[in-house]
Amino acid sequence: MISQALQHVNARIAQACAQAQRPGNAVTLLAVSKTFSAEAVISAIEAGQRDFGENYVQEGIEKIAQVASCCARRAISANALPIWHFIGPLQSNKARQVAQYFNWVHSIDRLKIAYRLSAYRPVHWPALNVCLQVNISQEATKSGFSANDVIVAAQEISQLPGLRLRGLMCIPQPTQKEAEQRYTFAQLRRIFELIRGKGLALDTLSMGMSNDFEAAILEGATIVRVGSAIFGKREGF
Ligand SMILES: *Cc1c(COP(=O)(O)O)cnc(C)c1O
Repeated sequence: MISQALQHVNARIAQACAQAQRPGNAVTLLAVSKTFSAEAVISAIEAGQRDFGENYVQEGIEKIAQVASCCARRAISANALPIWHFIGPLQSNKARQVAQYFNWVHSIDRLKIAYRLSAYRPVHWPALNVCLQVNISQEATKSGFSANDVIVAAQEISQLPGLRLRGLMCIPQPTQKEAEQRYTFAQLRRIFELIRGKGLALDTLSMGMSNDFEAAILEGATIVRVGSAIFGKREGF
């Protein structure tokens, strides 16, 4: 089931890359496993999936530990071990755990969180890969930097020793209209290019979910975050 769904999503990604005249390896599939079990993650790993996204700190770190011991028991090779991305809302009192369990954080939405993550990243570990979340649809209820603030924030955050600033992330208001999806993703792309124009070596645009990842790829996404199209419908959502 999961392996077939993964194959199908990977085929759709390849098709969108072809349509966008981008190389097939230009886009990384991030499998969003929130609410799904460690067993589901293991099935996906056995089907060749590497990158996984979690939204909730407690659920995420429990799953990371379960998956790690399962991978050890099954002698999964080092180059197939999962890479964990934190993509959910982040409170500063959880920053320490996130900095010590995850490889990536996509949802930095204020300076204070960035400083905490940098401070808590163990010094001898590789820097934590981070993206800044942009409130691209300017929704009052959504977190994220405004399009205006994110440029200065990127310059400041790029200096933090525990972090490696990789790019930008957005969660637009859901819409079925492809033109609207593309318009929003193109806006994030424009801000990304502006920041690169200031000399920061960003390489990541984290945008697109089950509902709109093809539109995101057409507008330059390098990571698409796909949950339900891989693991099925989430309970209670
Ligand atoms: C849940 C979630 C996703 C995946 O959503 P699907 O619609 O299931 O693909 C992606 N990004 C974030 C930030 C999420 O919270």
